[in-house]
Amino acid sequence: MNRRFFLASATAFTIASLIGNKVNAMEKIIQKLSLSDAQWQKKLTPEQYNILRDEGTEPSRSSALNNEKRKGIFHCAGCELELFSSENKYESGTGWPSFWQPISKNAIETKTDFKMVWPRTEYHCARCGGHQGHVFNDGPKPTGKRYCNNGLALIFKPTNKKDT
Ligand SMILES: [Zn+2]
Repeated sequence: MNRRFFLASATAFTIASLIGNKVNAMEKIIQKLSLSDAQWQKKLTPEQYNILRDEGTEPSRSSALNNEKRKGIFHCAGCELELFSSENKYESGTGWPSFWQPISKNAIETKTDFKMVWPRTEYHCARCGGHQGHVFNDGPKPTGKRYCNNGLALIFKPTNKKDT
């Protein structure tokens, strides 16, 4: 093995390990939060509990976050994990806060829900498992996704502190 080849392989190996470590670090960021049912009942309002822990749905146009236009981050109302950015919010006309992508693909997890006659894709917070809403394929570009979220399942924190 000549020296140049050795150095190139060593560099490639180092880069691969660094990337590997970074991926592990990203996965470690989201530690699961597991509370008992009684703890959730204490932490949440009955309305929030109904949505986050019981997969309820708030009435259309009932949330003030529907008209929230400021820049900021939407956090899970159960555990405050960052779920959506105002950059990805849009007016879907449905009466629920709508986004075309989550803040990171690690932030949410999905499952198929058969509560209606047709299957829907339910999504929830990756940290506490709190139900947020359903994702549909009729959203705007570039993803074509519509994350239809319950406002009560979110806490909005504006980027500009003067807006709070
Ligand atoms: Zn959460």
